[in-house]
Amino acid sequence: MNATEYMRKQLQELKEQSNLRSLPQMVHDGRYVVIDNKRMLNLSSNDYLGLATDRGLREEFLRTLTAETFLPTSSSSRLLTGNFNVYEELEAELAKLFGSEATLVFNSGYHANTGILPAVSDTQTLILADKLVHASIIDGIRLSAARCIRYRHNDTGQLERLLKEHHTSYRQIIIVTESIFSMDGDMADLQKLVELKHACNNVLLYVDEAHAFGVRGKYGLGCAEESGCIRDIDFLVGTFGKAAASAGAYLVCSRVTREYLVNRMRTLIFTTALPPINIAWTLFIVRKLPFMQEERQHLTHISQLLREALQANGYECPSASHIAPMIIGASADAIRCAEELQRHGFYALPVRPPTVPAGTSRIRFSLTAEIKEEEIRELAHLIGATLQSI
Ligand SMILES: *Cc1c(COP(=O)(O)O)cnc(C)c1O
Repeated sequence: MNATEYMRKQLQELKEQSNLRSLPQMVHDGRYVVIDNKRMLNLSSNDYLGLATDRGLREEFLRTLTAETFLPTSSSSRLLTGNFNVYEELEAELAKLFGSEATLVFNSGYHANTGILPAVSDTQTLILADKLVHASIIDGIRLSAARCIRYRHNDTGQLERLLKEHHTSYRQIIIVTESIFSMDGDMADLQKLVELKHACNNVLLYVDEAHAFGVRGKYGLGCAEESGCIRDIDFLVGTFGKAAASAGAYLVCSRVTREYLVNRMRTLIFTTALPPINIAWTLFIVRKLPFMQEERQHLTHISQLLREALQANGYECPSASHIAPMIIGASADAIRCAEELQRHGFYALPVRPPTVPAGTSRIRFSLTAEIKEEEIRELAHLIGATLQSI
């Protein structure tokens, strides 16, 4: 079988399992997406605070620009000539907000997660990672020289046993988790993880706040702020591509860690830095995030309503955030369910293996602060009335 035949056969198999994916064609219209001339409320957005659809914000930002400052490329890695001032300004602003010694900005969360762990690990490192961490973290672990054990999702009891068993056999152990998990919307117990980390002197903690930055904590710094443990986390990672309505990612860390990564992190060293214009926009947004408390409160409120609606209709909902799964089981059923929601004007997407474990295909709702309470009530009604038939 030649390569083309092989790929065709694999694609055919995916199709038969209802797991074939394609790039959707769509037009964005503020809170809505338009597909095949049908306008639907976007319930699959990562624009958690609604900043990406805020035209006023973009106009305000544009007024600050001139041809001098509109720099659409950095033309180079930050280690060569790509390190524009605005990078350092953004890092200083983040360090001030987090009250940290240092921060370091990367091109994306994917770059951060595939770059940091390989840089700081060696064969004398053990990584203990939650079973449900994001694909980018898994790839980072694969690229590292460390040994890795995945612990059962949020099972701090098992994690504690693993730490006891192994901490004397390795130079260092790195616990790796997300704060809000991408697919279930549930949360890690950060305080418990901090406690476990402090019980041994060679344990470090790595937390990915992709879904929490901008959304959680009084000033929007994430679950670490909310739990009062920013300083206890050795690698505090977040992205700008979600609530911050931009692109890129950050690490909050010590000065030494920052210097070490600048020397060792391949996804920082061997890539062209993000355009300065993008960093300037990120800085513009980051300066506003602490003041978005009303948006955060509203998002908390409607998320609670949606979770209650799911539970009232018999769906077990592990979520404790603005991400809420409606777990259906078979991929084909999840697809039918998504189509039904879309027919009623709600753009929600099915999530299937390998993104989630086999047999847990689901609709993944991802709410933003722009969604109105009435719209959630309408959705709740629809979940109750129509979907029972699937
Ligand atoms: C989205 C996401 C990433 C990737 O971030 P990008 O900036 O989009 O590359 C990493 N980790 C988690 C948990 C995510 O949800």
